[in-house]
Amino acid sequence: VRPLSHVPALGPVEVSFEFFPPKSTKMEDGLRQTVGALAPLGPRFLSVTYGAGGSTRDRTLATIAALAHDTSVPVAAHLTCVDATRGQVDDVARAYWAAGIRHIVALRGDPTTPGSRFVPHPDGYENAAALVAGLRRIAPFEISVAAYPETHPDAASPQADLDNLKAKIDAGATRAITQFFFEAETFLRFRDRAAAAGIDAEILPGILPVANIAQAYKFADMCGARVPDWMRRLFDGLDDQPATRALVTTATAAELCRQLRAGGVSRFHFYTLNRAEACQALCRLLVNPQ
Ligand code: FAD
Repeated sequence: VRPLSHVPALGPVEVSFEFFPPKSTKMEDGLRQTVGALAPLGPRFLSVTYGAGGSTRDRTLATIAALAHDTSVPVAAHLTCVDATRGQVDDVARAYWAAGIRHIVALRGDPTTPGSRFVPHPDGYENAAALVAGLRRIAPFEISVAAYPETHPDAASPQADLDNLKAKIDAGATRAITQFFFEAETFLRFRDRAAAAGIDAEILPGILPVANIAQAYKFADMCGARVPDWMRRLFDGLDDQPATRALVTTATAAELCRQLRAGGVSRFHFYTLNRAEACQALCRLLVNPQ
């Protein structure tokens, strides 16, 4: 095993939290409580996902408006370009700017039929790099993009995927947020490879505190992330024991964060799935190491 070469000095821990737009009034109340619990931790930003093809466009905007009303934390809006013309995507970006949104997480998105090949809209942006360049022409947004420590399933090779990440940064993105992963080495080696490829933008590890292992298998299958065997064994037989599952979830994610921290990582992005408890516990552990 190669030694890790690129280990930056430990800095103070900084976090960001990702949410999805709630679908019902009950879920809206739940998100408000979650944000109420997480905002006092002083995150750098909160981000809100965007249903591919614009399916959540209005709800994404409404959720961002609610977050901006309830907290003073900067908010980032996700935006995808799949199944849309450039004009449609640009209109959403302009609506974001008009609503005071200054940070976009720019994504290609996935085809609506799961498992089918991505085909760009004939009048659309062909990939996320083109979207970043398009957004740059609209307004001086801060732009984050996606990165894949275990390589995106569509990539011709890990190197091609890194080249694509570099293209997104060169087009004007200033930060990458990774797909989730479950072993620290996965991220630390990716960070090394990105540095060697000349990518100097910050790369935030995306941490998914898995509350539901069946859902994690599904997500992982879709995005090419690997669920290690030890993790499958850890959750084996816990389907009907949510409280124990939650403890295992938090313990596993805490160990992942601890190892990342030991590897020099000081900024973390949490996929909250609109739940506060695990993320709250993880942040406390990160900020107060033993
Ligand atoms: P791209 O960077 O365009 O790349 C996708 C793949 O295609 C890469 O493997 C790349 O190497 C390859 N590729 C790109 N251009 C070319 C080319 N010209 N020729 C050959 N290969 C090429 N999805 C949503 O629908 N809504 C969200 O809110 C959302 N948020 C996300 C947040 C994060 C942090 C992450 C990691 C993912 C998110 N996704 C979201 C999922 C994302 O849309 C999918 O992973 C999608 O499949 C790829 O998007 P991308 O922006 O990485 O695409």
